[in-house]
Amino acid sequence: MMSNDSFRHKGLRNRLVQEVRRKGITDERVLDAIGRVPRHLFMDSSFVKLAYKDQAFPIGQGQTISQPYAVAVQTELLQVQPGDQVLEVGTGSGYQAAVLAEMGADVFSVERQKRLYEKTSRLLSSLKYKKVRLFLGDGYEGLPAFAPFDKILVTAGAEEMPSSLLVQLKPGGLMVVPLGKSDQTMTRVKRINEDDFEQETFGQFAFVPMLKGIAK
Ligand code: SAH
Repeated sequence: MMSNDSFRHKGLRNRLVQEVRRKGITDERVLDAIGRVPRHLFMDSSFVKLAYKDQAFPIGQGQTISQPYAVAVQTELLQVQPGDQVLEVGTGSGYQAAVLAEMGADVFSVERQKRLYEKTSRLLSSLKYKKVRLFLGDGYEGLPAFAPFDKILVTAGAEEMPSSLLVQLKPGGLMVVPLGKSDQTMTRVKRINEDDFEQETFGQFAFVPMLKGIAK
């Protein structure tokens, strides 16, 4: 991996970390993880020079690699602890999954686009991210076979609360999901116990939509 990751990339990454910090991220473990993941390898080659700008970019199939700041906000809200079992909905480029793995999480990530699932599977195994397991499927269904999870992270905009996922959360667990149609309100749900959930919101973001079923 490091043969494709130079001091120049590392320098650009440090500046990205400073920018994300300036925008309000304070969890040093999140900032360290962003500083370690070689984002340029998660993007199409034509965009490599832009890899360390704090912007979302196209990754094919009409999808995007999320803006680093949005990745940082979601990761910080998730309060990831080493050893956490984390379900991610929307693998996309695999960048967010790599950030979670760098924080010590066991990541189970679901993607509905076959080509992205295949491309990202190859990338993450070449980068030796062994703590990330990828699945082709509809994230609305979660992964019942691996539930319950400590944390659930939805990286696509859901029009309504995906309540099918809430039942896959452990008591005490957290789910972070951007909720809304044209733009989304970052929302965190805590499962207090078997029956009770608590909800908080954290500002507006723009994500690609969470869609039902596996793409044709
Ligand atoms: N976490 C990604 C962000 C990708 S954008 C990254 O770091 O690059 C959101 C992704 O969610 C897209 O790849 C999209 O295809 C996927 N997606 C949308 N709805 C989904 C669903 N119901 N199940 C699984 N993946 C979904």
